[in-house]
Amino acid sequence: MTSTIEFLGTTTFRMVINDLVIFHDCWLDRPQSLVTYLTPDQVDRADYILINHAHFDHLPGTEIVAKKTGARVIGNAEAIRVLRELGVPEDQLMPVAGGEHIKLPHDIVIRPYPGLHCLMPFEHGAVPDVLTTDHRYEGKPGLGNLPNVPDDRLPSDQFRSFKRYIAKNQGRFSLWDGGCMMYNIHVPGQGTIFFNAHCGAYMGLLNDIHPRPDVAILAAAGQPCVNGDGYTGTANEFVLDCLERLGQPRKVAWCLHDQSPLPPQRIDTSTLEERVGRETKTKVMTLVPAEATGIFE
Ligand SMILES: [Zn+2]
Repeated sequence: MTSTIEFLGTTTFRMVINDLVIFHDCWLDRPQSLVTYLTPDQVDRADYILINHAHFDHLPGTEIVAKKTGARVIGNAEAIRVLRELGVPEDQLMPVAGGEHIKLPHDIVIRPYPGLHCLMPFEHGAVPDVLTTDHRYEGKPGLGNLPNVPDDRLPSDQFRSFKRYIAKNQGRFSLWDGGCMMYNIHVPGQGTIFFNAHCGAYMGLLNDIHPRPDVAILAAAGQPCVNGDGYTGTANEFVLDCLERLGQPRKVAWCLHDQSPLPPQRIDTSTLEERVGRETKTKVMTLVPAEATGIFE
């Protein structure tokens, strides 16, 4: 049986595995400045939704899809709190912290692991629209205090528009990430797909992810956060280290690189792709948004 994956922007993916529809993140209610590939109303089926963390670019839309389809939502306690307060029924909510084995039909097993959020650009106004993954820049933790910054103190209309999105959607996400989650999904007879949808990790953990992934979905954006420490390397160096520790999966695809409401608006991954091609046996899988592609072929 063929399993498919469809990239829906940022870190949101829809997979069909056997007869199950599984979302990774469900940010379908996006700001007008970004392309929307699928709206929550267009989703007629979902069985499971895995949430990376509770920020604005992972959650809004999840509550609509969960209520409409009855999907079970797996995520950190903060994401689950937000969804509970939005009225998603308790029996659909599954808080995780890492270390769980979640058994799905067809003996599919999902294993969450604790991850780390990338660092945020130190000064958004100084960040160019397009960054390359071989660029180093200063970072700090957290989303900042945008909703409380007066409009005339914001550097551009883009920031003011994003502030309005944040204000309008208060309560549909959290300013606290709640802890990023990585997910390893094992599909018997087909393979294993691993998600680390943020540019950070406790690196030693990656050596022990098992089953070893055949396919990895990795964030290729932002200043990496390595073991919670300051990191002087680039996103390229971070991702190459991740691939090595994961045993050089057969295929990798990027996320978090395509569009952002604030600078950098896009990440140029070309130097990363050259290095992956030259230095590993992993093949880069380019996912065309809103187009289903075989996961394990
Ligand atoms: Zn975040």
